[in-house]
Amino acid sequence: MTALSDGRELIYFDEDGRPPRTARDERGLSRVEHSSELRYDRLLDAWVTVASERQERIYLPAADACPFCPSRPGRPSEIPESDYDVVVFENRFPSFSGTGIAAPILLDTYDERPAVGRCEVVCFTPDHDASFAGLSPEQARLVLEAWTDRTAALLGRAGVAEVYCFENRGPEIGVTEQHPHGQIYAYPFVTPRTSRMLAAARRHEDLTGSNLFDDVVEAERSDGSRVVVSGANWTAFVPRAARWPFEVHLYPHRRVPDLTGLSGDEREEFCEIYLGLLRRFDALFAMAMPYISGWHQAPVGLGAGFALHLELFSIRRAPDKLKYLAGSESGMDAFISDIAPESAAARLREAR
Ligand SMILES: [Zn+2]
Repeated sequence: MTALSDGRELIYFDEDGRPPRTARDERGLSRVEHSSELRYDRLLDAWVTVASERQERIYLPAADACPFCPSRPGRPSEIPESDYDVVVFENRFPSFSGTGIAAPILLDTYDERPAVGRCEVVCFTPDHDASFAGLSPEQARLVLEAWTDRTAALLGRAGVAEVYCFENRGPEIGVTEQHPHGQIYAYPFVTPRTSRMLAAARRHEDLTGSNLFDDVVEAERSDGSRVVVSGANWTAFVPRAARWPFEVHLYPHRRVPDLTGLSGDEREEFCEIYLGLLRRFDALFAMAMPYISGWHQAPVGLGAGFALHLELFSIRRAPDKLKYLAGSESGMDAFISDIAPESAAARLREAR
């Protein structure tokens, strides 16, 4: 671990045999003070983060200088070294930062809190024009190692309730940096989506005595009509009630609460299956698919019964058509899906 000139942490994840990473950040950046705050929406029982200073970015790189490429003489970037394999560093303009007390899960009195937590950037490769789908299994394995290490470290920080490793890909999703990268959010609260899943799992267990995630994966595996790919340790399927034109959930067969619970074999096979899925997405319309991909992990102290899984989805429904969240979805959180999940699964099985 090293520190950037404004004090942010940066961590290299290297293949064996790389030279020591000793380059210093010579940019002399000044420290950015953050004052994001959490506000509790009492009607919807959910936290909203107000991070208004993100609008006032002080340091902007020149248009031709990618901040995620390795540094070159006269072109310093966020990464001081002239090369790297995978690197993780704190976002300079985070929505969450610092440590403190985690927001209580249920409350009606404390409806404002500082937005403690952490936002990190993960650069998947030094190659500016690459994409995750084009990584070798060894590179993907290194990214998985970075996600796992950071999950363990962030879950242990005071004030962190949940860790989300994700990638937004493509300008259609609003990505401003083309360089292949993802992000890690360490939230100071349990996110609305995770809260809903946990509540559904509790209800299911009360009613049936069994685990909801296990039952869902088992049902998809035995039905098979929505399975896209299945290996010895993982199954990827389009969920029965998919919201997005192309949406795949990827579960390990052995239920674990978070990335730190995966075995060596499971890690190995994940890389192969995940790279295959991303390539299928790109093959669907023979163009780079915009997508969001993220790991759903158990929140701190609520791991019992939760199942680690990855959700991958695209907003593209045809070569020239995107799915927009309009009145019903944005206004009511009620999704109308344009493609039958069974036919999306069949198309993904055929796409290569
Ligand atoms: Zn770059």
